[in-house]
Amino acid sequence: MNQIGMSGEAQPRTAPVFNPATGQQTAEVVLASTADVHAGVTRAAEAARAWRNTSLTARSKILFAFRELCDRHRDDLAASITAEHGKVLEDARGEVARGIEVVEFACGIPHLLKGEFSEDVSTGIDASSIRQPLGVVAGITPFNFPVMVPMWMYPVAIACGNAFVLKPSERDPSPTDLVAELWRQAGLPDDVFTVVHGDAEAVNALLDHPEIAAVSFVGSTPVARHVFERGHASGKRVQALGGAKNHAVVLPDADLASTADALIAAGYGSAGERCMAVSAVVVVGDAQPLIDAIAERARALVTGPGTDPASDMGPLITQTHRDRVAGYVDLALADGADVVVDGRDLVVPGGDNGFFFGPTLVDNVTPDMAVYRDEIFGPVLSVLRVDTLDDAIELVNANPFGNGTAIFTRDGASARRFRRDVTVGMVGINVAIPVPMAYYSFGGWKQSLFGDAHIHGMEGVRFNTRLKTITTRWPDPSSGTDPGRPALHFPSGDNR
Ligand code: NAD
Repeated sequence: MNQIGMSGEAQPRTAPVFNPATGQQTAEVVLASTADVHAGVTRAAEAARAWRNTSLTARSKILFAFRELCDRHRDDLAASITAEHGKVLEDARGEVARGIEVVEFACGIPHLLKGEFSEDVSTGIDASSIRQPLGVVAGITPFNFPVMVPMWMYPVAIACGNAFVLKPSERDPSPTDLVAELWRQAGLPDDVFTVVHGDAEAVNALLDHPEIAAVSFVGSTPVARHVFERGHASGKRVQALGGAKNHAVVLPDADLASTADALIAAGYGSAGERCMAVSAVVVVGDAQPLIDAIAERARALVTGPGTDPASDMGPLITQTHRDRVAGYVDLALADGADVVVDGRDLVVPGGDNGFFFGPTLVDNVTPDMAVYRDEIFGPVLSVLRVDTLDDAIELVNANPFGNGTAIFTRDGASARRFRRDVTVGMVGINVAIPVPMAYYSFGGWKQSLFGDAHIHGMEGVRFNTRLKTITTRWPDPSSGTDPGRPALHFPSGDNR
């Protein structure tokens, strides 16, 4: 059995890693103890002291080398994702591509870290500001994007001059070991990028460790809240991105075919295991034509192993999660909703032991139903019917999550109103999954993000650095100085 991770413990705890398409255990991951985390952080803190003194030119050279290696190993990274996460290979390639874009953003760090300078803010006095690294930054990441989500964090943190300790999901740990090897080949000094495989014990050890200055977390809302509160309690800067329940609002004037295509991709892509997946379709007016169009497309989707090019959708991450998703469809029926397309009884030829669940479409869902209230994280699209755009905005805004949302319409004024009034962090207009590019910043509102800073882009640079402003006076010996009477008050008037 392949073993991932290491521990100084004589009898370390382990967790199984599965191939979700076959249901077979393929590896076991060694879960770091608190002592293992402490040892890793101590080495990272030492490395951070040297790394912050490495010039911007030298740092960006290593980032460019890392980018080239990631580019060369796109297929290896994608294969590693599919083997443990299960998503189809093409989608895994897309994940790698979006991650590399953040590396490319971070390659521009000499420009991104340029400070400000003002000459003669007062007579003979100059002011400037610089951003300095924090020291050691920790990242804790979810299973659903084992390459991309960590890449939202460490390229920027490391480019800014920090050491980074990554605690990836224990459910698909292997892609991270490949990334660590690519950093090594790129010439990154030892311990500037450290991987700690583990579970809650490792996370809590990172949150409590005094040498960790900041924590980036992405995962479910309950854990995000815990990370935010515990990290803050120990004096850290924390950004904790949580779960989601993303709505797509469809107005009567939307283009039917392209909207149905977009919703199929947003609802069922990656088997719905995306924090930006659409799970609630809010239809204004007559919903039937759209439901028919989505149902027709959903029935035509092929669910199967991610390695099979014929598959549109792979399995879910574990059998337990598959059963949990099925439970929500049972509950929807019991609550009076209509299951138009039912993924519960899907049969995948040769895939009896895989964690497969077919595309599911549930109509006549109301906000009080569990299928709407909870994040399901599976291929289940719920349809809610409302009468007006105002009703739709009210529904979206009443939801405790606020990660992503989209509106489908041909009417600019309606789209503008939606964009302006909706209380959600990322908004698409005729774009179902409005994931910001690497040079913008990603993040939700409300219970989808705890903390102030969104991730990557300039918010990422600010999160990973601390601002210092400097006021400078160099007395000019050539002009001499008049000792006079020292003033104890703030300078005032025009003669400053
Ligand atoms: P999760 O919250 O179970 O796990 C995330 C990380 O937290 C993992 O590294 C895990 O080991 C650790 N963890 C789990 N339980 C813990 C505990 N009790 N104490 C401390 N640490 C703990 O999330 P997941 O199931 O891996 O991923 C799916 C979730 O992530 C979904 O809710 C999804 O919406 C969310 N997500 C959000 C975003 C975003 O950008 N907002 C992006 C991707 C995924």
